[in-house]
Amino acid sequence: MRNIPFFNYPALYENQAKDLQIAIMDVCTRGAYILQEDLKNFERNLAKFLNVKHVFGVANGTDALWMGLLCAGIGRDDEVILPSHTYIASAAAINFVGAIPILADISSDHMIDPDSVLKLITKKTKAIMPVQVNGRTCDMHKIMEIASAHNLLVVEDAAQGLGSKFMDQFAGTFGLFGTISFYPAKLLGCFGDGGAIVTNNDEFAEKIFQMRDHGRNHQGEVVSWGINSRLDNLQAAILNTKFSNFSEDISRRREIASLYQMYLGHLTKIKLPPSPIEGGINYDVYQNYEIEAEERDSLKVFLEKNGVRTLIQWSGMPLHKFSELRSQISSVPKTELFFDRCLMLPMNTSITNDDVLYICNLIKVFYGE
Ligand SMILES: *Cc1c(COP(=O)(O)O)cnc(C)c1O
Repeated sequence: MRNIPFFNYPALYENQAKDLQIAIMDVCTRGAYILQEDLKNFERNLAKFLNVKHVFGVANGTDALWMGLLCAGIGRDDEVILPSHTYIASAAAINFVGAIPILADISSDHMIDPDSVLKLITKKTKAIMPVQVNGRTCDMHKIMEIASAHNLLVVEDAAQGLGSKFMDQFAGTFGLFGTISFYPAKLLGCFGDGGAIVTNNDEFAEKIFQMRDHGRNHQGEVVSWGINSRLDNLQAAILNTKFSNFSEDISRRREIASLYQMYLGHLTKIKLPPSPIEGGINYDVYQNYEIEAEERDSLKVFLEKNGVRTLIQWSGMPLHKFSELRSQISSVPKTELFFDRCLMLPMNTSITNDDVLYICNLIKVFYGE
């Protein structure tokens, strides 16, 4: 029997141990801890990669969201539409600027459904927050169209979307701002918490620059209210090292998705996520591999008994299941059904082709196919 964890945390270090040791020692011997060269380099590298004007490293993806909303001027009693299929952090960020999270449903590809968004727009709606979940970018052209027709801001939670594209444009770069998370298990993970805000808007960028560092401007003078939410320079150095391998990591994730597709595509009792296509409308990077499965709970137990750890996203708690937001359940019927069926199979750069084959064979045995 194999033992396949859902995510291999020690591998984050082991895969690049030598380079990471050098990077960490280098930062420590220089004593370069806060807002130093490594952070600036990382922000520059990421901005270049994403083809975006500004990137700011911040303490985590959740801070990125609420600071972004605050600097976008979203506040008391404003409504922000987001999918129920997201992490509580997306809604918490909206809550903590005094605004109201309004829950939209998902389409068949598990992304926010533009038709559902349309139905939820009221006089109070201020912004749409698409969530680029599982390493896929939703139909951002439709979202941008709706936003401009109704004079709404678009703020992207791309915590899970770094490197994914819609019509050749990267997740996080469509609206006023996008946010990214460097939580260890995310596509680009650091050794603790980390996040970023990306934007093409100069005025907004200046606000974030001050907000994350006590309201200080480029001369170091305090000129506005701010807080302390900076990405550690040490984490930035680690991210720079990891980033040098990012394209290979994405290719590997897409390769694993192709293998799942090849081995499981014909099964009738499960539905796979969209497969990786070259030159298509979507370019998916597979933060997660989330399937829909009949007899989901029994399948999960069966896989676990055979050494394969799977997860139900958000611990089975999409936003509409929280008591604060429960009254909105009627607007998300597809999400409600989806959460009886969804399951994430292992998807990360430390599983082998043989691991994937082993997992797929178990699933075939389970369904007797
Ligand atoms: C991980 C995640 C966040 C939060 O990011 P942190 O860095 O953990 O604060 C927000 N939204 C989504 C969709 C996420 O997956």
